[in-house]
Amino acid sequence: MNTQMIDGKLIAQTIKDELKVKVETLKNQGLTPGLAVILVGENPASQVYVSNKKKACEYIGIKSFSYELPSETTEKEVLELVETLNNDSAVHGILVQLPLPKHMDEQKIILKIDPVKDVDGFHPYNVGALSIGLNGLVSCTPAGVIELLKRTNIEIQGKNCVVVGRSNIVGKPVSLLLLREHGTVTICHSRTKNLHAVVGQADIVIAAVGIAKFISGSMLKPGAVVIDVGINRDENGKLCGDVDFESCKGIASHITPVPGGVGPMTIAMLMHNCVLAAKNQGGF
Ligand code: NAD
Repeated sequence: MNTQMIDGKLIAQTIKDELKVKVETLKNQGLTPGLAVILVGENPASQVYVSNKKKACEYIGIKSFSYELPSETTEKEVLELVETLNNDSAVHGILVQLPLPKHMDEQKIILKIDPVKDVDGFHPYNVGALSIGLNGLVSCTPAGVIELLKRTNIEIQGKNCVVVGRSNIVGKPVSLLLLREHGTVTICHSRTKNLHAVVGQADIVIAAVGIAKFISGSMLKPGAVVIDVGINRDENGKLCGDVDFESCKGIASHITPVPGGVGPMTIAMLMHNCVLAAKNQGGF
């Protein structure tokens, strides 16, 4: 079988270009979407993510407000900043870059974000809205997975979808989204028995395990679609996914690479959420 690579970089670029046009129209109507990003401390990976988010805002025409705070910042100070941003009409999206320093309660800070500005989709309101099918802001990586499938014309309806991983940020929300698209969804986790057999039934496999090259070609049903959410380092320190890409070639019908698959989609969907949040708040 000829395995088709799903080019997440290209699809993310298309989405950003579409958003650029939408933002131009909104600006002509007097609305400039604004995103506030709060970064506490000096985590190098977080600094890279934040800088990429700012670059994407600039490209699309979203105004970004940046708060880079020292690691000694108190939880109270962050809560107060979130409150100020909640009340700032130029800010339509608020993103608190995780992880926060250990002396802060992440959940308390997420709860403080006004759900209409929660562009990461982590607030319990938005998580709840997703689970009962209400409109809300959907978290970016899971939304990116669905968008990759849709834009590759892969049908989800009626398909056996196996999600490996049940985290709050990937596994659970991606499962709910697949269900919303009428997939038949199975969620696997560290205590799942006979994972090989379960994955072997899948038409669509979503790997969100956090273990390098965990899903191999021998586990797949021929023709399965494989979406790799993982970001790991292999034994040589090279970036790799949760899927053993090489062993899946020739067995999977479609596969996402790492890097260049789901990763770029996360930022594209964040930008999508900012524009959506701005439109909702601006009454468009
Ligand atoms: P997590 O550690 O919170 O969750 C991992 C899940 O895998 C858990 O639910 C656990 O039960 C399951 N698991 C662990 N061992 C297993 C096993 N042996 N068999 C079956 N299931 C097992 O991780 P996460 O935050 O969901 O992230 C998963 C991966 O996705 C990581 O590599 C992370 O870096 C990556 N990630 C990528 C993006 C992106 O933008 N592409 C965003 C978020 C996370």
